[in-house]
Amino acid sequence: MHLAEFQQQMATLYGERDRARGLARSFAWFTEECGELSRALFRGDHADREREFADVLAWLASLAEQADVDLATAAERYASGCPRCGSTPCGCGR
Ligand SMILES: [Zn+2]
Repeated sequence: MHLAEFQQQMATLYGERDRARGLARSFAWFTEECGELSRALFRGDHADREREFADVLAWLASLAEQADVDLATAAERYASGCPRCGSTPCGCGR
């Protein structure tokens, strides 16, 4: 699934509920999910990690949708290399 399709799927599934909740409370849920990802990374198994990455990505898509940001467009920032030095791989600090 491409990033734009994922964002659209999240908007279709949860968009109405997310907009009713609002950006601030959605951001709080996003940070909660980041905590769950942290636990999965350091104490979970691979299935836990996949699930928590999906949940963090879902909440990130929700925030982007509410903020009128297209994630695929935002990701273009890294399409041509490091945004700071322009190199691939990054040459910053070398
Ligand atoms: Zn760089």
